Amino acid sequence: MGSVLFKDAIVVTMNPARDVFFGGAVLVEGSSIRSVHPSSEGLPPADRTIDCRGKIVLPGFVNTHTHLFQTLLKGLGDDMALDRWLSTMTFPAARFLSPELCYDAAMAGCLEGLRTGVTTNLDYMYPHAAGGLSDAVIKAFRDSGVRGIFGRGCMDVGEEFGVPKGIMQSPEAIEKDLVRLLDAYGRDADDMVRVWLAPAAVWSSSRKSLEMLKRVKDAYGTGLTVHISETPFDREATMKLHGKSDAEMLEELGLVGPDILMVHCVFLTERDRRMAAHYDLKVSHNAASNMYLSSGVAPVPGMLAQGISVSLGVDGAASNNSQDMLELMKLTALLHKVSSRDPTIITAEKVLEMATIDGARCLGLDGLIGSLEAGKKADILVFDPQLSAKAVPLHNPASTIVYSSSERNIRSVMVNGRLVIDEGEYRGGKSEEAILRDCQASAERLAEQGGMSNRLSGHIWRSSAF
Ligand SMILES: [Zn+2]
Repeated sequence: MGSVLFKDAIVVTMNPARDVFFGGAVLVEGSSIRSVHPSSEGLPPADRTIDCRGKIVLPGFVNTHTHLFQTLLKGLGDDMALDRWLSTMTFPAARFLSPELCYDAAMAGCLEGLRTGVTTNLDYMYPHAAGGLSDAVIKAFRDSGVRGIFGRGCMDVGEEFGVPKGIMQSPEAIEKDLVRLLDAYGRDADDMVRVWLAPAAVWSSSRKSLEMLKRVKDAYGTGLTVHISETPFDREATMKLHGKSDAEMLEELGLVGPDILMVHCVFLTERDRRMAAHYDLKVSHNAASNMYLSSGVAPVPGMLAQGISVSLGVDGAASNNSQDMLELMKLTALLHKVSSRDPTIITAEKVLEMATIDGARCLGLDGLIGSLEAGKKADILVFDPQLSAKAVPLHNPASTIVYSSSERNIRSVMVNGRLVIDEGEYRGGKSEEAILRDCQASAERLAEQGGMSNRLSGHIWRSSAF
């Protein structure tokens, strides 16, 4: 890898001063940013110079929550309440996952993310009905070119709440596989892959399992992510099993600190929020998924006001039907405006922070990514408003990105100094056509095996019950 100069750009740095340089430049050397310049004048040429006149150069987006295997389930879980969504679609599908299916799903999911500017994904892989599923997702991170944190999910109890026995594992089996993954992938020199712990929910983990996770976490110094208070059910089920709410259980077990990422947090109480702020717990907010499943509105403006770091997650495609970060940013802003009936409650700039530097902080990666600053890894987007009528005219870059963009505007995507999308062309090892073709074939296979309604068996046309 030589040097690359992004020149004459609108540089949205996301640095601590939130500098925006009109006519600025970013110089990349190898996998890192060498320098960021307010002006492009007088800069020596690089091995490759990319003319960015009229274009925005900004940090890659950080998606802090998804389930990449669910890419195969797009469109199968529409218009269902959560219990039916789990029992008739997500759980049956999980039982038939194979490494090949997981790989095809993850490749397509990562590709969709990259096309919408996602350079870092946290994948939360909770069903392990077969061996090798984790390795398949990590291989997809590497083959697709994206930076990834692999959250090794687990469940060891919860049958009375609908978790099928086939996707549960004993705490001993979970620990063995966790240690294997941490040893095999956890010390990636390039920081392209990290391994985290990811209990699916506090109500689907026994106390023994949670204590084991705490022990492994402390031994490896790695992060932990967990679904917290997505619905009232999460709190009630945890109360039944452990005698406390899910957030309270984290505190009791000592699973509190800046490397704990709580997902959803729609029904956090005021006490939980004070606890989260006190321990610097992080939050992944998934607006599209919360709307799709009618979970509710997470108290994001309140959490932000309390100083809690909140990031964005697209969530699995089974509860979103896409992995589109650009769409998610707009939905996030609009959800909080309408639910508070206050258009000033959240700005485009804040949402862009959540998708970049705040996302990096929530993953413990803010020293490496999330902003364009000298010394950080080169995860960089080139956004061209002129590629779509929707994004024209441009007055305020943050507003255009959050409210008026689409994947057509993402012209180039650099991850760790490598142009994974170069002037519109995807440059991964496997072609874009092959990734999409394999995804379609695998999705049809899984739907058939899981007995789910798909286009082969014929869809029932569902009209709303007005
Ligand atoms: Zn989730």
